[in-house]
Amino acid sequence: MSNNKKATNELVLLPIGGAGEIGMNIYLYGYGPKTNRKWLMVDVGLTFPGPNEPGVELIFPDISFIHEERDNLVGIVLTHAHEDHLGALTQLWPFLRAPVYATPFTAALLAGKISSYGSPEKFDVTEMPLGSRFDVGPFNVEYVGMTHSIPESNALVIRTPEGAIFHSGDWKLDPEPVVGALVDEKRLMEVGEEGIDVLICDSTNVLKEGHSISEGEVARSLARIIKDAPKRVIVTAFSSNVARIKAVALAAKEANRYVVVAGLSLWRVITAAQETGYLPDDLNFLDQDQYSEMQRSDIVLLCTGSQGESRAALARIAKGEHRRIKFAKGDMVIFSSFTIPGNERSVGSLMNNLADIGVEIVTTSNDLVHASGHPQRDELKQLYKWLKPRALVPMHGEYRHMSEHRKFAEKNDIGHTAIVTNGEAMRLLPLDHEQGSLIKVDEMPTGRWFLDGKTIAIHHEEPMRERRKLAYVGLVVATVVLDQNDYEIIDLLLETQGIPAEVSKRKPLDDMIENLIEGTLKSLPKKKRRDEKAATEAVRRSIRGEINRLWGKKPVVIVHLTHV
Ligand SMILES: [Zn+2]
Ligand SMILES: [Zn+2]
Repeated sequence: MSNNKKATNELVLLPIGGAGEIGMNIYLYGYGPKTNRKWLMVDVGLTFPGPNEPGVELIFPDISFIHEERDNLVGIVLTHAHEDHLGALTQLWPFLRAPVYATPFTAALLAGKISSYGSPEKFDVTEMPLGSRFDVGPFNVEYVGMTHSIPESNALVIRTPEGAIFHSGDWKLDPEPVVGALVDEKRLMEVGEEGIDVLICDSTNVLKEGHSISEGEVARSLARIIKDAPKRVIVTAFSSNVARIKAVALAAKEANRYVVVAGLSLWRVITAAQETGYLPDDLNFLDQDQYSEMQRSDIVLLCTGSQGESRAALARIAKGEHRRIKFAKGDMVIFSSFTIPGNERSVGSLMNNLADIGVEIVTTSNDLVHASGHPQRDELKQLYKWLKPRALVPMHGEYRHMSEHRKFAEKNDIGHTAIVTNGEAMRLLPLDHEQGSLIKVDEMPTGRWFLDGKTIAIHHEEPMRERRKLAYVGLVVATVVLDQNDYEIIDLLLETQGIPAEVSKRKPLDDMIENLIEGTLKSLPKKKRRDEKAATEAVRRSIRGEINRLWGKKPVVIVHLTHV
């Protein structure tokens, strides 16, 4: 009997976001028999909107499944503080209401977010020491420190009675991380000796041969560039990259320059890093108020906006719209970052504005000024060697990355591999399940939720479609006042938005439409004419048709019919 019961316990992996995309990572691990699973959530990330989501602030994975199941959600464990791993938590926590675990730096950044206006509700975060091991419901979780492009990026060993898995989180093997400890090779080997059944692994850079560039190399390169620069140096980087902030501050010190900081998110990270000991006390950061008082050759300006974000400091400075900071010919702007796919256009226009001022632009294409935080092939191979996993499931990648990662793992003698996508529950353990290993056992609906103004839009398709439509074809609102008896038009009010003047200001447009409406109403059978809805729809169609005839496009048309 007890044997039988044990056989039904299994560990499943259900990604809600992050499998098949780079961004909005939420991974659920479910343990127990199929009908009574307890869930552990790893990370609660977001992604940023593109042109298809006009007016949307942020995008979150659709968590309705776990929202309904939240009585069985035993905890939320965060691997690290990047937005694609924790950015959705403050907004989504009210739907989850489960205990949150994070290491000190991540907890400090999160605390800043929770106390700021952006969080709808306050909640506690349990701060776990680096390397700690703790139980969350039926899961035993161990934090294993990795290196990445932010302090305290953690892998997780998740142990259950059916075996152990290694959730890599975001990582690289950096021999000189500039901040934080080296990867704990010894611990990784011990964990491997003990036995890892499945490795759930970062796929971001699997297409790249060799080893990633170290933060240390970038730091030396930045120091050289800053030392040789004649006038102001401006460095823009991802604000969470504390190693880069430290490297810039050290380089400035060496070149006898002051570091001025512009951008709220940079200040938030600097404060959290100082609190947790990742930035030494003797590195000073000055407020932007002091910028104008200094000689050009005394300044290194650290600022946000490497992705061309229109509201960030750099874009505003480049357009000459910043109140305190101006650039001049001969200054140098270093993009210590890469352009996230989708942002090419905004980065391009930012660079055009900078070039127009006469600023020298340094990017990864003309110098060593950035390093990725994700593992390339040699690093992946090294991790496989330490952990000796029996199986591998790629994650944190688009399909091309995940399928390549699968092939790469097979080439490196990992026996079982499989790809799981958002919304699929894949059985991971026991790995020798009699009904098959690494197979899909369930499917849940997935999608996206939008932070739209102050609301979280769960049913978002319709408003987005309407907004996209309005953006392309404009709006016509017609208020028609009709005589009760003979359906003569007493008054017609026509308002348009986004319609070219050649169409909307054509003098007889009102008359044309008035005649059109009268004609339409007269052509309707009496019964239909009295049917408010049918009459309105007929009028709407005729206006839309008429404007299409004049313009070649069908606008959004809203009609109000009233009778007096
Ligand atoms: Zn990530
Ligand atoms: Zn990351």
